[in-house]
Amino acid sequence: MDGESTRERYLSVCRRIEDAKAKAGREHATVHLVAVTKYAAMEQVRELIDMGHVDFGEGRSQHFLKMAPQVQEYLDRRRTLGESDVPDHVRWHFIGHLQRNKAKKILPLVRMIHSVDSLRLAEEIQSCSNNADSPVEVLVQINPTDERQRYGIAPAAVRHLIEQIETMVTIRVRGIMTMAPKVEDPEETRPVFTRVSELFDEIKRSGVGGEHFDILSMGMSNDFEVAIECGANIVRVGSAIFGEKEITESVSTEQAEA
Ligand SMILES: *Cc1c(COP(=O)(O)O)cnc(C)c1O
Repeated sequence: MDGESTRERYLSVCRRIEDAKAKAGREHATVHLVAVTKYAAMEQVRELIDMGHVDFGEGRSQHFLKMAPQVQEYLDRRRTLGESDVPDHVRWHFIGHLQRNKAKKILPLVRMIHSVDSLRLAEEIQSCSNNADSPVEVLVQINPTDERQRYGIAPAAVRHLIEQIETMVTIRVRGIMTMAPKVEDPEETRPVFTRVSELFDEIKRSGVGGEHFDILSMGMSNDFEVAIECGANIVRVGSAIFGEKEITESVSTEQAEA
């Protein structure tokens, strides 16, 4: 992709996040970058880990269940070699549609599920987790526009779902996730992000989600700057870091970047 390396693209995304924060007068806000591995080769993921990056996102169950152990092996191997600056774990964010029959396998490996959009899924997650001392952290996924998107709950139903999940002791709702419709001009997403951000603030003010309700996950490669200007504190960026192509063989990146 334009002869740029993963490292350069990553650093450029980090810079753009800082610029967007500054533009919005949010210089001191923390905005976490979740690097979405959808299009990433293992080498690229390692490269980010070597640069100290810890938050990764994946949305395809099968791929995730292959990738997560490989990443863990890499960390373990490096620590065995005596490298002290290697983290124990990366933080995996599950961002895709979670099939209920996959929840049990996926839950122990992830830091946060971004995509809870039904009571049934929340109940399934609850039945797979039995530790009230460390509840599974989830975001409720909103479908802001109704158009085309298959997943996500309608904005009007969000508050009620959060109230229901709040009664489950092994799950904790940390906030909201949304995806804007795909458009050419990222500015077109601003009204959507603004609406979701207002809804987030409203729920937070009402106290429904409790004191832990503080995460607004929105913004992808095409629109993360607008999302940050609208208040996002997690952005999920894939192709702007890793390139556009779906890569299955790690070899193909080495060739592309040689
Ligand atoms: C693929 C995906 C992303 C990242 O998309 P890019 O446009 O490649 O940055 C973020 N969030 C979700 C839910 C995704 O499925």
